[in-house]
Amino acid sequence: MSNNTFTSFTDVSTLGEFGLIEALTKDNPSKHLSTIKGIGDDAAVIKNEEEVTVISTDMLVEGIHFDLMYTPLKHLGYKAVVVNLSDIFAMNAVPTQITVSIAISNKYSLEALKEFYDGIYTACKFYNVDLIGGDTTSSPKGMVISITAIGQAKKDKIVYRNGAKKGDILCVTGDLGASYLGLQILEREKQVYLAHPGVQPELENSQYLIERQLKPEAQMGAIAYFAKEGVVPTAMIDVSDGLASELIHICTQSGTGAFIEEGKVPIHPDSERTALEFKLDPITCALHGGEDYELLFTIDEKDLEKIRFMPEVFIIGEITDAADGIKLHTTGGNMHDITAQGWNHFRE
Ligand code: ADP
Ligand code: MG
Repeated sequence: MSNNTFTSFTDVSTLGEFGLIEALTKDNPSKHLSTIKGIGDDAAVIKNEEEVTVISTDMLVEGIHFDLMYTPLKHLGYKAVVVNLSDIFAMNAVPTQITVSIAISNKYSLEALKEFYDGIYTACKFYNVDLIGGDTTSSPKGMVISITAIGQAKKDKIVYRNGAKKGDILCVTGDLGASYLGLQILEREKQVYLAHPGVQPELENSQYLIERQLKPEAQMGAIAYFAKEGVVPTAMIDVSDGLASELIHICTQSGTGAFIEEGKVPIHPDSERTALEFKLDPITCALHGGEDYELLFTIDEKDLEKIRFMPEVFIIGEITDAADGIKLHTTGGNMHDITAQGWNHFRE
């Protein structure tokens, strides 16, 4: 288990709120001209360079969304940013700024919080966004993180969930189910550790899956590719809850049906192997696992040529009439309804 160990600890109460904010945010130069005023005043000021501003917020609660037994704080900071940026990319917009608000109990030292911010700054650098503000307060127990991401786009380039139409091609940017299986491994090793604290966790063969869970990436490259090739998806959503749930969102909002070819759904070999180890069906993990942060999108048939050379893209199905329902064509030649949960009950 990866515990966050520090050689010395600084009690946050010795710094006071302003001292803590200063310590966490003093080294934070702006990357965007649109960031007119960042941290330090009553509010940040952003210049609107494009036609529309896109805003998305997520909240993470310790014990519900993350477990510090196996989540290093640096990874937590990185992931907290990434999951928000993923929502901005899912609108086909470019993220430019974030705010970070935290509520922390007195078990967090300054060193621990600096680790957390180290992860935040690493993500800000990689994804080219400015940290422009936030709020800091105390919590009776554990940690709560709320991040808001702000992005820019031209109005006619924004992609909603509701634009898919019959005949559109259904695509995904990367393999699915890995993050969920990474979490299953971390949970299993946590239980082993709690029962036998001396036992070393068995994580060697699971690096890929664990990384997909602890350090996911948002699909910045896909949005850059769309801009470069002049293609605008008809609908798009990021895969946070699982392929099935996201596809249902697109179909419900677009008033369509869809089918997915089981054999076309990208599943990493490590996911296949680990799913079987846990006696799970790999396709069930891909459909219902979640936290993959890939993009699920639909494109008009005429744009197929334009996405053929996308570095990471998998064509997994097609949009149909609403009356045709939302279906999985299995490799065995059967058809199943895709529901938000419970599709796996059809197997065994
Ligand atoms: P106010 O009292 O007006 O809410 P604060 O003292 O909370 O102001 O914040 C001072 C400045 O520091 C503001 O610019 C705010 O956005 C920023 N800030 C506060 N907490 C954080 C944080 N956890 N991360 C980043 N910036 C923060
Ligand atoms: Mg404040």
